[in-house]
Amino acid sequence: MAINRIQFQHGMSLIEFLALYGEESQCAAALEHWRWPEGFVCPRCQGRDHYRVQHEGRSLFQCRSCRHQCSLTAGTLMDSSKLPLRLWFLAIYLISQAKTGLAALALKRQLGVSYRTAWLLNHKVMLAMAERDAQFPLRGQVLLDDAYLGGERPQLPGQAGRGSPNKQPMIAAVSLNAAGHPVYAKLSPLPGFTAEAVTEWATKNLRPGSSVLSDGLACFAGVIKAHCAHSYIVVGGRKPAQMPKFHWVNTVLANLKTAIGGAHKAFKFGKYAHQYLGAFSYRFNRRFDLFALVGKLLRTAACAAPRTQAQIRSAEVHA
Ligand SMILES: [Zn+2]
Repeated sequence: MAINRIQFQHGMSLIEFLALYGEESQCAAALEHWRWPEGFVCPRCQGRDHYRVQHEGRSLFQCRSCRHQCSLTAGTLMDSSKLPLRLWFLAIYLISQAKTGLAALALKRQLGVSYRTAWLLNHKVMLAMAERDAQFPLRGQVLLDDAYLGGERPQLPGQAGRGSPNKQPMIAAVSLNAAGHPVYAKLSPLPGFTAEAVTEWATKNLRPGSSVLSDGLACFAGVIKAHCAHSYIVVGGRKPAQMPKFHWVNTVLANLKTAIGGAHKAFKFGKYAHQYLGAFSYRFNRRFDLFALVGKLLRTAACAAPRTQAQIRSAEVHA
């Protein structure tokens, strides 16, 4: 068997990571550069003239024009966090490098923080990954398939089948290049397999003019209203998994199953599907350069909007 170029790539070792971001001052300098690449900009008045003041051991930026004070982390994913930056950076590194995703319990052990802190860190980072990835719709030839998140896990008696409370309908999409190889993937929860839900999903996730191939499930015709072409292969008794045309979308779904089974076991699929699937897609779409992925994810976190625990635990984030 040929060595898989993606699986065997170098990535960024822990030693390399610590050399770059092992000290609090290195993390602060990197964060400042990513937030304000051209130098400090006052979030209130856009003024640039400022000085630094020390407050309770933290460095604050004070605007000379409007006197507004802000910390380096205010307005970022790390907003209001008491954790040192180097712990945030390490968490982001660990999450970025875990191909199958990282359970909060593993993060708790590696960082030496409470489970609650690790859970929240993990969710904040996964949300930032999902939101970043959502900015890039798929284009060109796109394979679509329907699946259930949690659908193939052993169910309790009486819970199997479509009525199971912890079973989340989802859509899997893979874009192909001219040679038929996978380029990018999108995995998203759907409120249900209806044409309306697919139209809404396609409007956000597919570029107009994309050519969609599906197994002919009626709802997939919903992509047409989102200005995409739709063709399908009627499966007729055969599962799409057995059809060569659907090979890549099935490979991605199999990888997802491994990731969920390996790292997360079970979670509230309906409630947290958005960030788990978004984080999975984010990693998949940057799989060709695992070294650069670390810096990209750190920068994404530096520029992401703050999220509170209440927002993460409520459904409003996924709306
Ligand atoms: Zn100002």
